[in-house]
Amino acid sequence: EGGLVAAVTRALEQADSVRRLEVRANADTPEDAARARRFGAQGIGLCRTEHMFLGERRQLVERMILACTPGDREQALDALLPLQTDDFAGILEAMDGLPVTIRLLDPPLHEFLPDRVELSVRVATAEARGERPEQRDLELLAAVDRMHEENPMMGLRGVRLGLAVPGLVAMQVRAVASAVVARVRAGGDPRAEIMVPLVGDVEELRLVKAEVERVLAEVGEESGVTVDCPVGTMIELPRAALTAGPIAEEAAFFSFGTNDLTQTTWGFSRDDVEAEFFPGYIDRGVFAASPFETLDEEGVGRLVRIAVEEGRRARPDLQIGVCGEHGGDPASVHFFHAAGLDYVSCSPFRVPVARLEAGRAALSHGHGGHGGDGDGKDADGRDADGGGGGGGR
Ligand code: PEP
Ligand code: MG
Repeated sequence: EGGLVAAVTRALEQADSVRRLEVRANADTPEDAARARRFGAQGIGLCRTEHMFLGERRQLVERMILACTPGDREQALDALLPLQTDDFAGILEAMDGLPVTIRLLDPPLHEFLPDRVELSVRVATAEARGERPEQRDLELLAAVDRMHEENPMMGLRGVRLGLAVPGLVAMQVRAVASAVVARVRAGGDPRAEIMVPLVGDVEELRLVKAEVERVLAEVGEESGVTVDCPVGTMIELPRAALTAGPIAEEAAFFSFGTNDLTQTTWGFSRDDVEAEFFPGYIDRGVFAASPFETLDEEGVGRLVRIAVEEGRRARPDLQIGVCGEHGGDPASVHFFHAAGLDYVSCSPFRVPVARLEAGRAALSHGHGGHGGDGDGKDADGRDADGGGGGGGR
């Protein structure tokens, strides 16, 4: 067993010495961040903040979003601020000296709202008994009805929520900035970055970025510590990929959200891959493999290449990564190398595999980039690697 560990360590060291792609991890707790670091992650490419709004904080979140009574929202945001600050402080500490890309809240709304059916039943039951329903239930039901969406995954998510709920972006950015200030004062080296989810148009990014910069400046002034967080965007809608040039003018970095980009390019739900037709499509050869696991190079990959090319043309120093599940898929890692990305980000446990594949990609495709030759070689290499990678998991 000792021999095996030594062999794996050697293989990883070799891969690290040749790979051009950086490997980061997706992590949203200090424990996961520390684990990712032990696996060799060079940063956090995606810190999702959704889970930080569940559990005991749910009620605050309901109040923040639904704002049934005056003052509700402000109070909820005030209560959330120190909690969020602690969340970020722990992660920045675990990743001291390495980049941590914190993504602004991106929930499908229905996961955060009280259940409409449950509320209706409670109200109806009280009425049937001839009692007065709880005032709070009535207010919540009215608010939930107002916000109801038939299709929440295509609704008030990501940047749309940030623009719709006054104070939400400011609260999250203030929490990031406060955590940065605290780390700096403790002698640390925090490298927080702020990422805006589900952007489809540059104007959405511009609006949020103005808010981010306003809050960073405010915290800088209050604390006397300069807080410099690059602001970047997810590219996870076809429209974002197709308008990557103008978006890059406002973004320090792009990170491809290939889960959503696959969902929106194909127009089928990432949450229903068990559905009737989906496995059948693999059996019948419509998919070579599930496009949610191995990147669909012909379609989704084409959007990635367009966005890389147009993004870099607009901003040559644009940092580009991927943080969808594909970031840890061997065949997809080869594609991202050939497409000229700077990093892949995957779950902590997949970091070693991503490091190895990034090394193999550098050896088999050269240094990467966007040459026509590179593309041809990539297509051949991808087929061979796709089989091996799939079998290996
Ligand atoms: C993505 O869409 O690929 C992504 C990384 O974001 P999430 O999975 O959180 O939607
Ligand atoms: Mg997404």
